[in-house]
Amino acid sequence: MSQSSTLAALATGLANGSIEVVDLTSPLSAATPVIALPPEFGQTARFELQEISRYDDRGPVWYWNNFRSGEHTGTHLDAPIHWITGKDLHDVASIPAGRLIAQAVVLDFSAEAGKDADFLVEVDHIRAWEAEHGPLPAGGWLLLRTGWDARSGSEQAFLNADENGPHTPGLSPECARWLARESPVIGLGVETVGTDAGRAHSFDPAFPCHSYLLGSGKYGLTQLRNLAALPPTGSVVIAGPLPIVTGSGAPARVLALVER
Ligand code: MN
Repeated sequence: MSQSSTLAALATGLANGSIEVVDLTSPLSAATPVIALPPEFGQTARFELQEISRYDDRGPVWYWNNFRSGEHTGTHLDAPIHWITGKDLHDVASIPAGRLIAQAVVLDFSAEAGKDADFLVEVDHIRAWEAEHGPLPAGGWLLLRTGWDARSGSEQAFLNADENGPHTPGLSPECARWLARESPVIGLGVETVGTDAGRAHSFDPAFPCHSYLLGSGKYGLTQLRNLAALPPTGSVVIAGPLPIVTGSGAPARVLALVER
């Protein structure tokens, strides 16, 4: 099949609904939950809109806004340069465009995370998944379903912090190391506020997903939703971060193509 007929088949599938587009992106507003670091560190900004004009004397027939946002606010992509382990690697604008479209697999740990907010995925969990579904995709995404998107309407429930810090699911340090250095994936996508588990500040190394994955030139995708609408294998993810020159990451529209 020639390239042109492949794209024609894709366009036909999109038009007739045999290929569904699933939006994995959380809406961006001032209510979008943002990560909170301990108070001695700098903090990321919430998303804010500032109206320039709305069909009024500031602009009689047009409406537009300025916006302010952290790079890591809402659904966003972490570029390798975000972490010190990847400081000489790509910033978000330098990631080759061809790497922003890739197949994806979804590993569902929503039952485990529902019982234990601090649930950690281990290498053996992924090996068991591979025994059923086949190997992780080379150059594709591992998307981690935990059911956390159901909490995104409440920052308190989403961050799930107590006096000891946040409690959200993620990967064990060894699993993060394995995913970064031994698995063929391009990155890790999660439903939580960051790619690391809530307790990862006290792991060794601290924040192992950030440390190992970004240090290996891989990527993170966060605050995804609607992963329940994706099959375990066979979807294609299109992740479009804003190309912020020198940026450490950027809000992204993340879409998945799914055959129905
Ligand atoms: Mn981030």
